[in-house]
Amino acid sequence: METKRLANPRARSHPSLILCISLSLQEISNAYEVLSDDQKRSIYDRFGEAGLKGGAGGFGGGGMGGAGQGDFTNPFDIFEQFFGGGMGGGGGMGGGMGGQPRRRGPAPGTDERHDLTIDFADAVFGCSKEVEVSRLESCGTCSGSGVKAGTSPSRCGQCGGSGQVVQAVRTPLGAFQQVMACPACEGAGETSAPCASCAGDGRLRKSKRISLRVPPGVDGGSRLRVRGEGSAGRRGGPPGDLYVFVRVRPSPAGLRREGTTVHSDVDVSYVDAILGTSVQVETVDGPVDLRVPAGTQPGTTLVMAKRGVPRLGAAPAARGDHQVHVRVTIPTKVSEEEKGLVEALREAQAAAATAKGGKGWFGR
Ligand code: ZN
Repeated sequence: METKRLANPRARSHPSLILCISLSLQEISNAYEVLSDDQKRSIYDRFGEAGLKGGAGGFGGGGMGGAGQGDFTNPFDIFEQFFGGGMGGGGGMGGGMGGQPRRRGPAPGTDERHDLTIDFADAVFGCSKEVEVSRLESCGTCSGSGVKAGTSPSRCGQCGGSGQVVQAVRTPLGAFQQVMACPACEGAGETSAPCASCAGDGRLRKSKRISLRVPPGVDGGSRLRVRGEGSAGRRGGPPGDLYVFVRVRPSPAGLRREGTTVHSDVDVSYVDAILGTSVQVETVDGPVDLRVPAGTQPGTTLVMAKRGVPRLGAAPAARGDHQVHVRVTIPTKVSEEEKGLVEALREAQAAAATAKGGKGWFGR
């Protein structure tokens, strides 16, 4: 194993790493996408799981200008408004502006979240996992319509079939009249006898096993999106997506990860640091012999090139480095023999210093 020394042991953080990951997103095809973009993360940080799951209270009827009925389900839709980029779905913001009532029709399904914890090595090299997710699926009894079989809809008694009701709203600025979707028929203008299986929702919660391919290079906080594996939409609406949130267990070998760079520490005795030695270092590839050159200083970083983590979405050969941080150990107790040898060393050092006019024994 070839080793090289870093000029500056502190120069081991790579601010551009996150950028690399987001650029490589384009290269991940298939149904899976890894969402590691900082901006998307900030959306999640702001709105949390409730936002991702949608439903009442998530975004509420929030300040985005009228996702009217509170079934604004996908926080990433907000993002597409600002950053573009076909995250599909369509109609995310489609509720009309300013609280206009929305006619009952197909509604997109909510996104579902699944948390997946994987081993350190699986995150580095990728893995296949089967996950069991719970989501709403179309009701088989009523084919998703929510209507009891053999019945037909009748005109809604509350709104008279218009689907709208006028409501007075009192605010500090005065009373306003507001047109709202009829609460009885949800704006449909007609009511139906509900399906007994799904209580009229048209969907039932079921669990499903999904095979997931986790790409090499994912990290804690990575999210995988599986398109169309979220909950079914109401009344035939398109399904939401499944978001798999990745957590990574700590390395049993004590390896630490920083993007594609792996860090670990190695203890070297002061004698070996002076004379040089070879030590066995645990890496993601298994144990590797590392040469510690003579005269290695405490805190030195030795780099094992290409022994780090594959870059997400890049060719398998594109790997980061493994940085080994050398800790020079100095014994607190020495034998009489060792003490004699070290004292002899001190005398030799002092004599050499006198001979060379004050320079140290190490000749540095
Ligand atoms: Zn049903």
